[in-house]
Amino acid sequence: MARKFKLTNIFNFPKHSLQKFTAISILVFTILQTLAENTIQNTVSIAPVLLPIITITLLISYIIISILMILKYLSDKQCLFLVPVICAFTGSVVLNMYYFSSYPEGFIYKIITISNYNDYLIGYFYRNIMLMITILMSALLYGLRKHRLLSPENNIITVWVIINASIIMVALSWLSSSYYIKTNIDLTHQKISDFFPFWRPGVMFVAWCVILIIAIITTRFRNMYWTGIYFVCISYMLMSFQLITSEYSTDNMLYRTRMLEVLSTLVFVFILFINSFILYKNSNTKYKNAYQNSIRDHLTMLYNRRYFYDALMKLIPCITVKNPLSIIVCDIDFFKSINDKYGHQHGDKVIQFIAIKIQSLLRQNDILARIGGEEFALLLPGVNEENAKIIAERICHAVSQHDSKNTDIHQSERITISMGIYSATDNTMTEDVYISRADDAMYKAKHAGRNCVKVWQQ
Ligand code: GH3
Ligand code: MG
Ligand code: MG
Repeated sequence: MARKFKLTNIFNFPKHSLQKFTAISILVFTILQTLAENTIQNTVSIAPVLLPIITITLLISYIIISILMILKYLSDKQCLFLVPVICAFTGSVVLNMYYFSSYPEGFIYKIITISNYNDYLIGYFYRNIMLMITILMSALLYGLRKHRLLSPENNIITVWVIINASIIMVALSWLSSSYYIKTNIDLTHQKISDFFPFWRPGVMFVAWCVILIIAIITTRFRNMYWTGIYFVCISYMLMSFQLITSEYSTDNMLYRTRMLEVLSTLVFVFILFINSFILYKNSNTKYKNAYQNSIRDHLTMLYNRRYFYDALMKLIPCITVKNPLSIIVCDIDFFKSINDKYGHQHGDKVIQFIAIKIQSLLRQNDILARIGGEEFALLLPGVNEENAKIIAERICHAVSQHDSKNTDIHQSERITISMGIYSATDNTMTEDVYISRADDAMYKAKHAGRNCVKVWQQ
């Protein structure tokens, strides 16, 4: 049944996430803004080196962001939504190169020319547009990630469209700059004395607000990565805001916006690193859980048959006369009749009881597994035949002497097990031979009247 569309559902975010994000953003941006302003105020005299440092830091940050995201995408190609943002940051690396091409005069406050300033604005303008489009694409791809149009077969086409769109943006920016006189566009005011931008950063500010809202609605604080993207949107909103409210010639606007950009980009890099750490931690936990599920039996949580065989295979090469390996096979006596009389669920409880009982009598590096319905097997490394017999008899006795009043197993018959031991002192046989010898000994115990231990003999 289709879910009914409700307007309130759009703003249904995880608990307190919007409030927390708003509070943290206000705090972080207040710090960044203060830091940016103070740095610029105190360092105007060294501005010739400040701007190259800012630009290089940005360039390196963009490269790190691109690499982190490319690696994330390569590790999970389902994350198609990463591709647009990868393109945006890789494109930003190229656009940032512009600044270097106008070195040194493009970097020095006092001798900056209108052409350099116009190139700066063009680079900045296209970078904004490119980031806006790609973040929008990314959020939409994320929101629609389960749609059949974005099936794995269509992934290649989507990636191609995104890459080409980004290349076109970079090329357009290049063509609009002073490198191509024919297509050069003018974003500055014509009077050299006042570089107040002719284009409207107010439009950019509103556009960034819209993109931020769309991104939050479609991605709903799902993970740290998206929180980082919201953060990028806010930083560009703030930069546009500064462009509206300041005049270049009096406010060092160029320096302040660049400085804010650097600081917020560094914070974004930091968020991405935290995100990678969280992902690594989660996948490690998932891997450990999945591994435990694959080697454990769900009823008793003992090792399963496959793990038991693997462990035996690994131990065989180490077997010597001085380092024997004892294999014990146990089988519950008359279990069919317990099942028939008390039901299957009661039978399961008996199996769990035996598992706990045997486990409580073993050392840490002994291996206990449930290798069949009501059959258990033990690997006792370094234990010879004589000691294995003592251990097995202790287990057999403990099981048969249990007091059912202390358990939730209520049955009149005593629960007993039969056990067979094979203690190996040479490593020349396959694992099946070792187990079948312990199994033969266990059948001998059954024939000998059950509730006893037998050792394999030639
Ligand atoms: P014996 O003393 O000769 O071993 O007699 P037995 O009745 O125990 O015979 P056997 O070992 O062949 O019986 C195995 C029975 O264990 C058959 C099956 O119904 C029961 N069984 C196997 N797996 C499970 C399980 O997971 N839960 C329960 N409740 N019963 C199981
Ligand atoms: Mg059996
Ligand atoms: Mg049995």
